[in-house]
Amino acid sequence: MACRCAACKYHHRKCPPDCILAPHFPIGTTERFLTVHSVFGSANVARLLAEVPPPLRGDAITTLLFEAEALLNNGTKGPIAYIESLQMELRSLQTQIIAANLELNMLRSRATPPSVAPACSTPPPSPGDSSSVIEGSGGMELNGKPVGSP
Ligand SMILES: [Zn+2]
Repeated sequence: MACRCAACKYHHRKCPPDCILAPHFPIGTTERFLTVHSVFGSANVARLLAEVPPPLRGDAITTLLFEAEALLNNGTKGPIAYIESLQMELRSLQTQIIAANLELNMLRSRATPPSVAPACSTPPPSPGDSSSVIEGSGGMELNGKPVGSP
């Protein structure tokens, strides 16, 4: 006895060798078939599959299954509810990115005080030249404090 696909088994009919639903609803996938069938109807699914090139039929069934599950979970919005949820998550993540960039820019501006730039433009005093070293302000400074002083 030939194995019937889940669709043909459900409809109590003989599964022909060229059954268009058999590759996508093999035996044991009754629940998956019923999900798609309850929303779209197996005749419509078979008709739709016939219009899709064979290499894309698996993707078509995956899409129909996703849409059917979404419609069964949320009858009014269906997959739109999932899209809206993802858009809300996206907006939240974009807001977090903007806040993180603002904080990063603030931290960067604190790490490089403006007093450091002019000090780097003048050449550092040579070790033996005491006339160019003013007591308490020799060397490089960080945040107004000489580097290396207690
Ligand atoms: Zn079949």
